Amino acid sequence: MSIKIDLQKCVGCGKCLKVCPGNLIFKNCESKAFIKYPEECWGCTACLKECPVQAINYYLGVDIGGKGTYLNTKKEKNLLHWHIFKPNKVEIIITTNETEGNKY
Ligand code: SF4
Ligand code: SF4
Repeated sequence: MSIKIDLQKCVGCGKCLKVCPGNLIFKNCESKAFIKYPEECWGCTACLKECPVQAINYYLGVDIGGKGTYLNTKKEKNLLHWHIFKPNKVEIIITTNETEGNKY
């Protein structure tokens, strides 16, 4: 599991840099974010949840989502939409409510 940042989408806001617990994300000379040590990413998903433009894709790995499956997130008030993209172009959306996270 690791993330991949889409440089075309990144607007350089820096939010992902601030929340990564491993300080793995940096900015390049164009102020675009990139992950310097992808092998050290432990998949906490903090960075993609903060990205306002869905520039960070999180690759799930073969055992979870199948090869090539990735997800990103979109916030809508208290709702967090998890968009899962399968290699066969199928998109699955799972919505969680951040205010109800401790109910389970
Ligand atoms: S998923 Fe977590 S550990 Fe990996 S780069 Fe993002 S914030 Fe850092
Ligand atoms: S949060 Fe998204 S837009 Fe902001 S710097 Fe990171 S990748 Fe770029």
